[in-house]
Amino acid sequence: MNGVPVTAASRALYSCHTCGLLSRGADKGADMGGVVHCPRCSAELHFRKPDSVARSWALLIAAYIMYIPANLLPIMETSSLFGSQDDTIMSGVLYLWYSGSWDLALVVFVASIMVPLLKLIAMTLLLVSVQRRSVWQPLQRTKLYRVVEFVGRWSMLDIYVVTILAALVQIGSLATIKAGPAAVAFGAVVVLTMFSALQFDPRLIWDPLQKERPGHE
Ligand SMILES: [Zn+2]
Repeated sequence: MNGVPVTAASRALYSCHTCGLLSRGADKGADMGGVVHCPRCSAELHFRKPDSVARSWALLIAAYIMYIPANLLPIMETSSLFGSQDDTIMSGVLYLWYSGSWDLALVVFVASIMVPLLKLIAMTLLLVSVQRRSVWQPLQRTKLYRVVEFVGRWSMLDIYVVTILAALVQIGSLATIKAGPAAVAFGAVVVLTMFSALQFDPRLIWDPLQKERPGHE
């Protein structure tokens, strides 16, 4: 690290969460309990996203909980003349693997089991390190956050696969295929993790490296 840079917060400047304007904030009367507003879009200003860590944790824990039914309940219900079959994500992966489509099995395994779990673990790591005011590898942690945020929008791949399969099989009309309850849970995991990442304020990673800092909200 070559020198600690000056931050807006250390100069008592606010960055607007909505329009991005950097300002000292316009006081709308001193009786408003010290609430400062953006002079351009009049959104409430904070040095850091308010209750970022607590909200991020809450959403993350909810995502962890939903991860369990997402993997234990059937994601796909197939019924045909020869009976019906429920598949969880893992049994689907195994089916693909043993029927010779190892490449597809690998894609589904990585996209539906590995990536969501790694994202949960990454967010946990970020939150724990921020709460402990850790100064360990801030640049790497910021990059990790960026990856988690970027990967979010690609995580619906599994739902997409089920949708495509359902459409393909319906055309055949010999069998019907439905998304099972795990599909809802899986969608919840993805969305909750995305919201958790959105609530997280990556500037908190850098704050412990700052020499002095006025109180943040
Ligand atoms: Zn603004």
